Amino acid sequence: KYQGISYDDAMKVRSKNLTPALLTFYKKPVMINQGHMQWLWDIDGKRYLDLFAGIVTVSVGHCHPKVTQAAEKQMRKLWHTTNIYLHPAIHEYAEKLVAKLPGDLKVVYFTNSGSEANDLALLMARMYTGTFETLSLRNAYHGASPYLMGLTALSTWKFNSPTGLGIHQTMNADPYRGPWGGARCRDSPSQVVGRSCDCAEGQCQAGEHYLDQLKDTVAFSMPNKRCGAFFAESIQGVGGTVQFPKNFLKPAFEFIRSQGGVCISDEVQTGFGRLGSHFWGFETHDLVPDIVTMAKGIGNGFPLAAVVTTPEIAKQMGTALHFNTYGGNPMASAVGSAVLDAIEEDGTQENSHVVGTYFINKLRELQNEFDVIGDVRGKGLMIGVELVSDREKRTPLSTDIVGKIWEDMKDMGLLVGKGGLYGTVSLILLHFDSYYL
Ligand code: PMP
Repeated sequence: KYQGISYDDAMKVRSKNLTPALLTFYKKPVMINQGHMQWLWDIDGKRYLDLFAGIVTVSVGHCHPKVTQAAEKQMRKLWHTTNIYLHPAIHEYAEKLVAKLPGDLKVVYFTNSGSEANDLALLMARMYTGTFETLSLRNAYHGASPYLMGLTALSTWKFNSPTGLGIHQTMNADPYRGPWGGARCRDSPSQVVGRSCDCAEGQCQAGEHYLDQLKDTVAFSMPNKRCGAFFAESIQGVGGTVQFPKNFLKPAFEFIRSQGGVCISDEVQTGFGRLGSHFWGFETHDLVPDIVTMAKGIGNGFPLAAVVTTPEIAKQMGTALHFNTYGGNPMASAVGSAVLDAIEEDGTQENSHVVGTYFINKLRELQNEFDVIGDVRGKGLMIGVELVSDREKRTPLSTDIVGKIWEDMKDMGLLVGKGGLYGTVSLILLHFDSYYL
């Protein structure tokens, strides 16, 4: 039986002693006490199916036995030492993690959050290219540090204070809400209903149009018409599970490189097999980035994140010392290593593919039946369902109605996310543990 702080006292503390800017879901927020794999229990013992996974973070299940065991074992041996000394766990883990990456992506920097990882990637890219100008897509979320609030291009997350200098945005390659493309031009596991592409089958031009916009942004907005770094998620998460048209991201990376820049894949949500068909989201775009940032699923909820890059780029960071007290600490390394084992042993990537594809297809059947479902998109167990009041015009459903549906789901024991520009995309971001098989 739960014996901790009462619900009412917790609410008082939250309103008096915690930041008022803290995001809290639901009119009557749930107070979670316990978790096991895909399940969560609140302090009254009510059970929820967690389809949001702690904002796409829990990758192999809450309190996965293998990961918990590895954490306990390490905790009894050594909690902490900074990396000024050697400790076995970071070395064992670094070798295992980089083995999952293609090409020359072999040098890893450990941090504690996705924001720290992207901050470091930005610094790294600027050091390497000698160019300050940086580009991201509208609707992107890359973190909340003062620098990254510039890269993050959703006003919801921006305070009224100057953000990172030298950061620009280009039009988002959004086939559903943008001017070009349709559901068919996305890299999707199956055929899609909803708004169809204007182009002939197999000849979608949407990616090229968005690429032209990107080139224009560089040419019109950046000194010397040069962009040093381009950040992109493989599927935009917080922005509402936005999938780019098929022929956008790879040519965009090629263009940025052709003018001397580097490309950063933010795999914070899309990495670690969540997309099912591939371990990394960038692989679904058939490209290899210069820098990859990862967080969330990497530690199954434990504060752990990383930046992986090539030896050539890493060398440019050698002119000053890089220090991060907790980055790659023994606990985080032991947990990260056990998460990789759990993904492998439980077959979670395959599970994500099988269950995710089934789920998406079933949601599309519902879309055929109910006009309120404007779009169903995503890959594996990263799924977005966009709700509309007019399917033809793609008018976002009023946030009041979306809120009501969302509250009802919670009352029925189902936790899902909410995102997108209008807060009308239900983000279904599942655990991909074998319990779903
Ligand atoms: N990148 C992406 C794609 C994210 O979704 C997030 C967090 N929502 C971040 C970066 C920032 O991670 P963190 O909250 O750990 O700083």
